[in-house]
Amino acid sequence: MPDNFDYDLFTIGAGSGGVRASRIAGGHGAKVAVAEEHRYGGTCVIRGCVPKKMLVYASEFAEALHHAQNKGLTIGDVSFDWATLRDFVNADVDRLEGLYGQTLGGAGVEAISERATITGPNSVKLASGKEITAKYILVATGGTPVIPPFEGSEHAISSNEIFYLDEFPKRLMVMGGGYIAVEFAGVFNALGGEVTLVNRSDTILRTYEQDIVKRLPPIMEARGMDLQMGAQIESIAKNADGSLKVTLSNGVVKEVDQVLVATGRKPNTEGLGLETVGITLGKGGEIPVDEASKTSCDSIYAVGDVTDRVQLTPVAIREGHAFADSIFGGNPRVVDHSVIPTAVFSQPSIASVGMTEEEARVAVGEVDIYTSDFRPMKNIFSPRMERGFYKMITAKETGQVLGLHMIGPESGEIIQGAAVAIKAGLTKADFDATTALHPTMAEELVLLK
Ligand code: NDP
Repeated sequence: MPDNFDYDLFTIGAGSGGVRASRIAGGHGAKVAVAEEHRYGGTCVIRGCVPKKMLVYASEFAEALHHAQNKGLTIGDVSFDWATLRDFVNADVDRLEGLYGQTLGGAGVEAISERATITGPNSVKLASGKEITAKYILVATGGTPVIPPFEGSEHAISSNEIFYLDEFPKRLMVMGGGYIAVEFAGVFNALGGEVTLVNRSDTILRTYEQDIVKRLPPIMEARGMDLQMGAQIESIAKNADGSLKVTLSNGVVKEVDQVLVATGRKPNTEGLGLETVGITLGKGGEIPVDEASKTSCDSIYAVGDVTDRVQLTPVAIREGHAFADSIFGGNPRVVDHSVIPTAVFSQPSIASVGMTEEEARVAVGEVDIYTSDFRPMKNIFSPRMERGFYKMITAKETGQVLGLHMIGPESGEIIQGAAVAIKAGLTKADFDATTALHPTMAEELVLLK
């Protein structure tokens, strides 16, 4: 193969995975360009994890105001201005986008603000028509929300739009029972919205440990959310005043201001030209890759959500980094996709690392279960009687911790530390040998019975 390409690496998509791979490859001395048709930073920075978490923080503050009185604080009239919060959050997103651009520039990566499509194993074409050759092509185009077909679905929004709403939706309907639905339901409820969550089954967060998850719906209802379980949206009609009339499959009809559909995401592979190099997409439109993130075409790799392995930012980052180290850094390595901690920033939050009880029983047979059901001290100030619940699953034979799951304040913060121990293969005895840090919620981890 002649080595007279325009670039060593051409990355399509400047999200978490694409930027990490490009910057690391640049650092290894490769000549790199990255094409991005929207904004630098991708879903996580622009319309995902980052602005979502900022809204979560704001809404938790609103929730805490309700408990101020028991802390001796008298707070006068409280009002909430959506536009102020929205603009503050989006200004920080702009700042982060700038930093992403700087990071690429610092590593000598050429950023091209155009759509690129693949035209051959070593060539891409930019929207402006320019043809470019590269020794390697990395596809890191991420995913996009899917809105299932129903009458009036054009009146619904996805998580892409929710950060830019002109008006705060006083009445919000959320369709879905996954991460995004549960997180935004919590945010808009705590900020004073009237929230209805519509889920097609009776189970939200289906892949999570259900002993943990089942604690959430009663808390959501106690916080004033209307849960319509086992229901689908049948139709949305727009009223003359711009509000929406939603009819559900269970006969319920509701008037709302916005409908957020959060029923999963699909890989961004349409129109990328993958067929020109013989790459056959998977059932969900994802790019099949091997453990080194290589596609069926030797010069083309793919990382992140577009491969639909694990749709999480830190995973995309690891895949991108491992790709760049392997190809350009003389350090071939693959990403271990086991024992990945995750959190749902619901209110209260849910966090998880390792196997559910069901998965552990399949994997090792006999297991032991340890739990703690407690009222976090922080919640004493609140009139709500919300409890925390932690569940640990160990292998009966060895005592090794296989899974840890929790619901309660700060769960995401707590699980990251525990994930190190679980990844390292520690046992319940190792947890118990650790002195509790009192008084914290995290101390429950070493006191589980
Ligand atoms: P999820 O895959 O988490 O959940 C999709 C939900 O929509 C499920 O409740 C599913 O129901 C339901 N659903 C799917 N298809 C339909 C349909 N046709 N009609 C009605 N309901 C349907 O998707 P999200 O959109 O919430 O999030 C996408 C991904 O983004 C997540 O998987 C996650 O990896 C990532 N993410 C991570 C976050 C985090 O780490 N905190 C935050 C946000 C997103 P059922 O269970 O019956 O299939």
